[in-house]
Amino acid sequence: MAKRDYYEVLGVTKSATPEEIKKAYRKLAIQYHPDKNPDNPEAEDKFKEAAEAYEVLSNSEKKQRYDQYGHQGVGGSAGYGGGGMNMEDIFSQFGDIFGGGGGFGSFFSGGGGGRRTKKGTNLRVKLKLNLQEISNGVEKKIKVKRHVIAQGVTFKSCSTCQGSGQIKKVVNTMLGQMVSASTCAVCGGSGQIVDKKPTEADARGLIIREEVISINIPGGVAEGMQLSMSGKGNEIPGGIPGDLLIVIEEVEDQILQRDGNNVIFDLHVSFVDATLGASIEVPTIDGKVKIKIDPGTQSGKMLRLKGKGIKDINGYTRGDQLIMVNVWTPVQLSKEERQILENLRESNNFKPDPGKSEKSFFDKMKEFF
Ligand SMILES: [Zn+2]
Repeated sequence: MAKRDYYEVLGVTKSATPEEIKKAYRKLAIQYHPDKNPDNPEAEDKFKEAAEAYEVLSNSEKKQRYDQYGHQGVGGSAGYGGGGMNMEDIFSQFGDIFGGGGGFGSFFSGGGGGRRTKKGTNLRVKLKLNLQEISNGVEKKIKVKRHVIAQGVTFKSCSTCQGSGQIKKVVNTMLGQMVSASTCAVCGGSGQIVDKKPTEADARGLIIREEVISINIPGGVAEGMQLSMSGKGNEIPGGIPGDLLIVIEEVEDQILQRDGNNVIFDLHVSFVDATLGASIEVPTIDGKVKIKIDPGTQSGKMLRLKGKGIKDINGYTRGDQLIMVNVWTPVQLSKEERQILENLRESNNFKPDPGKSEKSFFDKMKEFF
């Protein structure tokens, strides 16, 4: 299913202020709140969709990544269980948007009652990738320490909440009578308590286990992107496991510089090669390739190796490698070299004469980016 654009979800423009974004979300959250729409899965979906959009657009860093890379930029890539916030997340993160507004505080904390599923905590790992791995995608094995339910643990129903995980109370609010549900303190909301457990397990029946998890990183990811593997986080008794969040870190390449999906290489050629022309080897992500320097090449010329850049995360296209030609001026000269150059100093061919064909730096930038 195609994800809707976050701006469209909230009904705001890209230039909306944080205040406008908050206001738009607040309106939708009230409209589709589960307390107002009991047993209405469509409203629940809208409620979740709005919360997800707000989670991204209210965070300047995430918003910037979303503007640049779309849903993939904020961990919404298909196949990684991205998107999908659960109700628990929404209430814990955005409950305060209604705070201080009179009756809405209690209105909101009333929550979705017993329909909330308890979820284990998420695990977050950082993953360093070099330029080759980023470009081509890579399969990585990640070592994680997860809380898992120990073998041999048995549970029994919590007598305090009769297994529901929640203690319900009727409260009077500005909007009328509402049922407020709070998490059962005895079982922590799971509705279950440990009956028998092996000695190494903690009071919740959990042990810490080290696991190696394999993940396929698609080509074209970028610094700060977050991939999420559903259910690979911490387990919790009576609930579903949390997620494993993988945050991408780019290891800077010593030679090639990334610019979006393009790769930039600074090439230094000798004054003689630039004048006479030459065939020169340059590094690319896929190894070395030979390029031709035309006779009479000026410093600042940009050459393009088509398709030698980084794979686009959304498709099958690849960026280019841009080669910036810098003509190297000799710093030290022998007596003979100096003499040769002195003889050339007055030659008309050596006097700069940039014609119309020599584009300015700004014209080149326009052409290449
Ligand atoms: Zn309980």
